[in-house]
Amino acid sequence: MSRRTVIVGAGQAGARTAAALRKLDASAEILLLGEESELPYERPPLSKEVLNGASPSKTTMFQRDWYDEQRVALRLGVKVASIDSAAKQISLADGEPLAYDDLVLATGVRPRPLTVPGAALDGVLMLRNVGDSVNLSARLTAGAKVVVIGGGFLGLEIAATAVARDCSVTVLETGNGLLPRIFGGFLGTYLLDLHRSHQVDVRAGVTVAALEGNTAVEAVRLGDGSLLAADVVVVAIGAVANDELAREAGAECADGVLVDAEARTSLPSIYAVGDVARQRTHWLGEAIRVESWENAEVQAQAAANAIAGNAPSAAAVPWFWTDQYDRNIQMLGGRVANDVVVMRADAGASSWCAFFVADNVIRGAVLVNAGRERRNIKRLIDTQQRVDHTELGDTARPLTGLARG
Ligand SMILES: Cc1cc2nc3c(=O)[nH]c(=O)nc-3n(C[C@H](O)[C@H](O)[C@H](O)COP(=O)(O)OP(=O)(O)OC[C@H]3O[C@@H](n4cnc5c(N)ncnc54)[C@H](O)[C@@H]3O)c2cc1C
Repeated sequence: MSRRTVIVGAGQAGARTAAALRKLDASAEILLLGEESELPYERPPLSKEVLNGASPSKTTMFQRDWYDEQRVALRLGVKVASIDSAAKQISLADGEPLAYDDLVLATGVRPRPLTVPGAALDGVLMLRNVGDSVNLSARLTAGAKVVVIGGGFLGLEIAATAVARDCSVTVLETGNGLLPRIFGGFLGTYLLDLHRSHQVDVRAGVTVAALEGNTAVEAVRLGDGSLLAADVVVVAIGAVANDELAREAGAECADGVLVDAEARTSLPSIYAVGDVARQRTHWLGEAIRVESWENAEVQAQAAANAIAGNAPSAAAVPWFWTDQYDRNIQMLGGRVANDVVVMRADAGASSWCAFFVADNVIRGAVLVNAGRERRNIKRLIDTQQRVDHTELGDTARPLTGLARG
């Protein structure tokens, strides 16, 4: 008899789990349930191409026919309200019960709200879904004064897109620099210069006391009492895991559902994948929740493997990218104690790489407009091959030739 897998959350990780499971098990019964009304889509273009006016349809993962062909029962516009793990049953918000053999939670995250006076004024926006992107895009008119609260990847991408739309942009960041945890602040320093060179007013070390205006936002009051005029305020101060279903069912959670490398939660036959999952041990450190496109793909495959009874895939170095202005920036791995930065071309060049090397082994890398080198570098990191610093920094030597046996 075929097993029934119910997937809660029809975003990237949910749809990818369905696709991966179908490949592994032709007879599995697969139900994919999602609260949003759109076909499952990928979110990276929402702060880039779609925000810049491209059609949201470009982010759709699979067309409607695909679900029929793959026998994935897709139900959109439905919210799952609870899990009864003992009875192996979930309930929808309208009370409808659904039984499962295996349950995959792919419920993602929601933007962390700003809790200052005026946060509910018109013109104060956040960016998570297609509707948010379309709404914000309509406000990015030439000359508009856009204040982005939060200098993380999302805030910086929004700033870059707003500049492309000829807005006047300010980024407010509470920390003293940008992205201090990413490669020890290395990339943040680069991005600060990059944004300032595009006339973005990046202010680090500032707090927001209130948003002011009658019905619509007109200004941001900073912690020092000063006022900053604003037509649009975008709040991009991080995300909160949608882990309530799992928590209320008794799964171990800590801003995210704790999972092992095979995406198993602490409850039997329940898995968690994508942004909502916090992996107990991870390449980047202990118990980490990774909000990235690649992580959604990898964990979806891990859950599908486990459900189908297949061996787990080998752990690979994590990868993340961001697009800002004319720069495609890719990151592999991370920093470790006592590593040395080896540059391959200067950071002022149109294309360059930085390697974080400890004991002649590359632990992480930043690639700027150098995506063609990603496979070579990933292989060097995954296989922990020893490299020579001088050769690594020499652009005349192809990276393919650097591996030592
Ligand atoms: C604007 C933006 C830009 C990004 N850019 C990049 C990038 O450049 N590079 C990169 O690597 N990553 C990027 N990311 C991150 C990447 O998109 C996410 O890591 C990825 O979408 C995670 O997929 P997910 O399926 O876990 O979550 P989601 O895609 O958020 O899907 C979760 C789904 O679950 C649904 N849901 C929640 N609760 C319930 C419930 N109770 N019942 C039914 N359905 C429910 C939600 O409505 C949602 O549709 C970006 C993210 C955003 C928002």
